[in-house]
Amino acid sequence: MDAIAAHIDAVRERIAAAARQAGRSAAEVRLIGVTKTQSPERIALALAAGLTDFGENRVQEAEPKIAALATTHPQVSWRLIGHLQRNKAKKAAVLFDAVDSLDSLELARALDRHVGELARPQLGSEARLLVLLQVNVSGEASKEGFALVGWEEQPALFAAFCAEVAALLTLPHLRVRGLMTIAPWSSDPEAARPTFRSARRLRDRLAQRFPQGDWAELSMGMTDDFAVAIAEGATLVRVGRAIFGER
Ligand SMILES: *Cc1c(COP(=O)(O)O)cnc(C)c1O
Repeated sequence: MDAIAAHIDAVRERIAAAARQAGRSAAEVRLIGVTKTQSPERIALALAAGLTDFGENRVQEAEPKIAALATTHPQVSWRLIGHLQRNKAKKAAVLFDAVDSLDSLELARALDRHVGELARPQLGSEARLLVLLQVNVSGEASKEGFALVGWEEQPALFAAFCAEVAALLTLPHLRVRGLMTIAPWSSDPEAARPTFRSARRLRDRLAQRFPQGDWAELSMGMTDDFAVAIAEGATLVRVGRAIFGER
């Protein structure tokens, strides 16, 4: 077994253990392999080991890799997990199966328009792109995402976000599936817990407020903190270094 396959097995075991400890089923948590800086050859090793969902941060970096693997591995699902500039929205709409880093209503409108114009055959006649709303609940000014720091104490902040969500949910070519968040960097995984808990509570509030929507997914947790994220309700974990090694 190559190192990447062994790492994937180890991560899956840790996911299962964290789920068990949280009284959840391991099947509720999907592993996204984060492949930024990784070559198509190394991604192919992860595919051979059974991983099928991958996250890339940048459209330009992802494009040749997705092309390189498309013919041999048509079943791969590619998710964009990094900030998307509006001038790359069209390319992202062509390349990705999901955009998890949707962080503004303007970007949502641009993506919606491009998906509608492209009418991607792989999305069927309904032609909807799956998206997650990236939320910044952690207080780091540098973090991308809808600005929601302190949303629980500030009803006006939550109300303003709800107005944007209401508009987003009317876009015909996007399908909102839930939220994504990134915890501030820390050497202590426990430091991420309040961020994950706040994102989960926000998801639950949105599900109450917009019962017509689908709020099933919570993408949170990376190599250092995915066990904490699973304890707090993550359904997607984004793992790079624990699979592919240090970048
Ligand atoms: C790089 C990255 C990850 C993976 O981080 P690791 O620490 O390598 O597991 C997850 N999510 C996002 C948004 C990233 O940019």
